[in-house]
Amino acid sequence: MTIERVGIVGAGQMGNGIAHVFALAGYDVLMTDISQDALTSAIALIDRNLDRQVSRDLITPDAKADAAARIATTTTLTDLGQTDLIIEAATERETIKTAIFEDLVPHLKPTTILTSNTSSISITRLASRTDRPEKFMGFHFMNPVPIMQLVELIRGIATDEETFKACHAVVERLGKTSATAEDFPAFIVNRILMPMINEAIYTLYEGVGSVQSIDTSLKLGANHPMGPLELADFIGLDTCLAIMNVLHDGLADTKYRPCPLLTKYVEAGWLGRKSQRGFYDYRGETPVPTR
Ligand code: NAD
Repeated sequence: MTIERVGIVGAGQMGNGIAHVFALAGYDVLMTDISQDALTSAIALIDRNLDRQVSRDLITPDAKADAAARIATTTTLTDLGQTDLIIEAATERETIKTAIFEDLVPHLKPTTILTSNTSSISITRLASRTDRPEKFMGFHFMNPVPIMQLVELIRGIATDEETFKACHAVVERLGKTSATAEDFPAFIVNRILMPMINEAIYTLYEGVGSVQSIDTSLKLGANHPMGPLELADFIGLDTCLAIMNVLHDGLADTKYRPCPLLTKYVEAGWLGRKSQRGFYDYRGETPVPTR
């Protein structure tokens, strides 16, 4: 199973980073999004991030030029039909992901491996809506993709060994490290991380601490590089809420109930850094806590 051409669905925070690392590793990348603006911004961001790597001597100017030349974009999803591996990184909503796979399937080569970068949705369920559950896996990158070393590899109930080995080899070629997780809600990283973030939001909601005191406490008291609220803004509050809902529904345990304050921020459209406001307001020179 040779993988040379890679299709990426969704050019948001994760899609652009995934395109970046695959292109640097020598894969040909075709990235799609329903929004041309998202594709244009992703290409500009990849260019800036590659420049930063050149200025830090992490890559050569030639490697940057080669990588940039390997990334093409399209707003037509079915153009991805001839790729060898597809990584779906669209919005964290099951109906969106299912519709993408259903539209893609009739156009794929029989050998194409399908994967999702979902943070929490059942891989087995997504796979069951395709014609190839044995060639379907979870391929979960961390944010920001060019910097974070881990990729969680998640086998659905039907995933075959050949598919797993092919994805494992891709992670190695990217120079990253994989950890294998079973297909249960939110897998490993978010099963542990997201309840901590949700608890930080409860701590704010119940008035135990302010945004500033909660983040300072975890940074200086637990040696975390970012505070939990700062991290929530970085991930995207809509994504955090979606993951908590998947944990709550999937494990049917009240300990996973999403904090009402998280829901309120999402309802307000205050989604964190990507909308310039969340637990911090990013519209000025320095972030200002919103509570
Ligand atoms: P995002 O909101 O930044 O980007 C999502 C992109 O998907 C948008 O550009 C949107 O236009 C596009 N999109 C929506 N519907 C589409 C469709 N039908 N076809 C093609 N494109 C479509 O979200 P993100 O943070 O990049 O998250 C993407 C996925 O990655 C989610 O499944 C999320 O759970 C997962 N993830 C996110 C993080 C994180 O820290 N943000 C980390 C790991 C995994």
